[in-house]
Amino acid sequence: MKKIHKIYINGEFVTPNGTEVFEIINPSYNQKIGEVILADEVDTRNAIAAAKEAFKTFSKSTVDERISYLEKLKIAVEKRKQDFTEVMIEEYGGTFQFSSMSNEFTGQWFDSMIESIKSFDFEQTINSSKVFLQPVGVIGIITPWNASNGSICSKVATAISAGCTVVIKPSEMSALQTQLLMEAFHEAGLPKGVINFVIGLGNVVGTELTVHQDIAKISFTGSTVVGKLIAKKAVDTMKRVTLELGGKSPNIILDDANLEEAIPTAVFGAYMNSGQACIAPTRLLVPENQLEKVNEIAKATAEKIVVGFPEKENTNVGPMVSIKQFERVQNYIKTGLEEGATLLAGGTGKPDGLEDGNFVKATIFTNVKNNMTIAQEEIFGPVLSIIPYKTEEEAIEIANDTPYGLAAYISSSNMKRAQKVASQIDAGRICINGFSHDPMVPFGGFKQSGIGREYGVYGLKAYLEPKAVLQ
Ligand code: NAD
Repeated sequence: MKKIHKIYINGEFVTPNGTEVFEIINPSYNQKIGEVILADEVDTRNAIAAAKEAFKTFSKSTVDERISYLEKLKIAVEKRKQDFTEVMIEEYGGTFQFSSMSNEFTGQWFDSMIESIKSFDFEQTINSSKVFLQPVGVIGIITPWNASNGSICSKVATAISAGCTVVIKPSEMSALQTQLLMEAFHEAGLPKGVINFVIGLGNVVGTELTVHQDIAKISFTGSTVVGKLIAKKAVDTMKRVTLELGGKSPNIILDDANLEEAIPTAVFGAYMNSGQACIAPTRLLVPENQLEKVNEIAKATAEKIVVGFPEKENTNVGPMVSIKQFERVQNYIKTGLEEGATLLAGGTGKPDGLEDGNFVKATIFTNVKNNMTIAQEEIFGPVLSIIPYKTEEEAIEIANDTPYGLAAYISSSNMKRAQKVASQIDAGRICINGFSHDPMVPFGGFKQSGIGREYGVYGLKAYLEPKAVLQ
């Protein structure tokens, strides 16, 4: 039984003032594997005070000093790659495949920010005036359970690059990853109070960060519902906000694409992190006259998908994070059937032999209409909707017809044509022919997928306040 009974404030592991206990449940077996003592508002205020004090000095640190801190953070986190993979499997059922792959990226969050600040002009000249780009202040970092480690590393690396100090409120459902991060960041030996962690509930610790006058900015990754709540509350103290929210990403297969390559990639992509990924391509848009062939390949691919225990190396889809999430996904599958979509693979109920955990069958609906609930709402589970279209114009219209605009994907054998389609899609990140990742390239959403951008120089600017001195 793992016990997480400390939070991290002002360079020390301290016992929280809060006393509520949160149980860590392994989603493969629904058995308790640990517990966390949750911090409260008092702990949050203590952490904010420490970060505010540290900001006085840290905001004046040089670029070279910040680079050396980023290097230390990177080493400390990378050292624990395997440990992170183990706890991701344990605490949320992240598959070995996904967890180990995502932990391979950890170092890049720090490297990319080192690259970004090396050449960044923190003092600029416009005509005869100076513009100083100063750190915005103490940052409240609020993160989800599904991308906890990467999300925290990316936000912390950016804050440190800008000269900001941070109070991090990770999801209570990722406490084991948080424990490892606290140990790693402590080992990196940054000045006291620069990085603080408060593990607690969203409506307690998250709210306190959102309303507290000494927090200058909230950097949030999570659901659109909570993002909106945060934006509303943050306005009273005029906080800066970066919101990375949900998605319902289209994957457009143009009529000149190689279906034998594009469709299996699309199906595996939709099930990334067991379908619990904000950027998952959950709407597969295909030419109507190729639908039959697409259905055939998609069904054959689904039959190869291994749903099972996440620690096994060949498992593609693990359990849903919680019973609540399992039930939510089941309800969406029922709604898809009720609204008249054709079930191509999977369906309701648990796969045989996996009855104890929160396992969902790898599900594909075809003949989906874009106005159906399963095509409009973020399901956050292994459910793919195949939507036929008649013309390229119609594909673009369907792709843009949701409240979201986080990511999009296009497959074509003609790069120029794919680029032209990309120029008409309302999404913050578009990948052509497959899935790519670049931590220097801006990431964020159009429409209700968020506000602002993260990563690289775009991310850095969101942690800086320009001060113009006219002379
Ligand atoms: P969530 O919105 O429920 O929770 C995210 C964080 O917000 C948690 O730490 C939670 O405790 C906190 N929170 C909850 N209520 C709060 C409140 N009232 N005030 C302040 N904080 C509060 O999301 P989740 O279920 O943990 O994660 C899944 C969601 O995150 C999905 O919608 C997914 O698309 C989204 N997500 C987006 C990205 C992105 O980069 N765009 C990345 C990963 C996940």
